[in-house]
Amino acid sequence: MKQTIWKLENPIKHFDWGSMDQITKILGISNPSQKPMAEIWMGAHPIGCSTAIEIDNHKVKLDKLINDNPQAILGEDTYKKFAGLPYLFKILSANKALSIQVHPTKTAAKCGFEKENQLGIALNDPKRNYKDPNHKPELIYALTPFKAMRSFRPIDEILMLFAKVNVSILENEILKLKNNCTPQQLKLFFTALLNLSEKEKLQLINQLLNSINDIEIEPFSTIKMLAQEYPNDIGIFMPLILNVIELQPGQAMFLDAQTPHAYIKGTGLEVMANSDNVLRAGLTHKHIDIQQLVNNTSFDSLSLNNLLIKPIIKANKTSFPVPVDDFNFEIIYSNDQQQEQKVTSAQIVLCLEGKICLTTEFESVVLSKGESAFIAYQAKAYCYTGKGILATVSN
Ligand SMILES: [Zn+2]
Repeated sequence: MKQTIWKLENPIKHFDWGSMDQITKILGISNPSQKPMAEIWMGAHPIGCSTAIEIDNHKVKLDKLINDNPQAILGEDTYKKFAGLPYLFKILSANKALSIQVHPTKTAAKCGFEKENQLGIALNDPKRNYKDPNHKPELIYALTPFKAMRSFRPIDEILMLFAKVNVSILENEILKLKNNCTPQQLKLFFTALLNLSEKEKLQLINQLLNSINDIEIEPFSTIKMLAQEYPNDIGIFMPLILNVIELQPGQAMFLDAQTPHAYIKGTGLEVMANSDNVLRAGLTHKHIDIQQLVNNTSFDSLSLNNLLIKPIIKANKTSFPVPVDDFNFEIIYSNDQQQEQKVTSAQIVLCLEGKICLTTEFESVVLSKGESAFIAYQAKAYCYTGKGILATVSN
């Protein structure tokens, strides 16, 4: 008899933007260190690997468990294609905005990674852009109202918002954009904004903040909030340029390569390809490589009503289709009637509500709210029963 399902213990990331208590409130996961609890990682990533609990209570790191028997755990196809678990599943809770960022395409990541290797830039060098040769598409699913920025607004909307503020330093650039409403000109506008001297940036930020002092509506209230979190950061201009959206619980958004985005506030589940390639554009103290950022950004506009994934609801399952093969994300509503779930790749299951029993051919585990399990490809299927909600990630 081979074990095919393991309960997981998951590492907590205490980034300073994390919330102290939201993950505990929503999922019942305790925060013994009393430091901000920003992310909980479920997966086999080298800088945050889950621990699997064997039947005899012996503990083993998930990457070791996978590497000891990759074909059986991942399945032959996944092993051939990805050579490891292709995705990382996170619980994320932001009390403060995260940096504005884009992620490169697979081709750009491969090329950039090789180039920086040739240049001898160490992997931990703060100026290093490409940490691995992979793309990093992301999905974010809201557990609470979740505020974020994503994709460029339609250009007429950007011009309309800039017309409401008094930023004389940018007058010339705004005029050029008005006369040429194209993604190419938007790229020049965005680049010019980031390339201002430090002195000009400070003047511009002051002009913006003075001119919106009395305005309490969006996106100006977001700008004021960001200015408190990141004083003197040019990123506070982004709500005028990028869409500001608040996802409601149960809604999800997919962030493909080259899509500018920032998470501002809220708690959610995040699924991503197994990569750490981030190019930053603001709201950060970290390195910004403007040239690389602009080369890896799509300047096509997207309107607010096109930002969410249209879910597919079938019986007791809601799936959120994404255009990549690194991961699938699904929400399952379980009741007292036993149901079967096929397993076509390694799967991570997180219990969001209630108490649910998962049974494979030989063993079973019970997951309460906030608990998670890893299921091997070789399980082929499992049954679940008990009232509650599961979030599952597979590939
Ligand atoms: Zn991202």
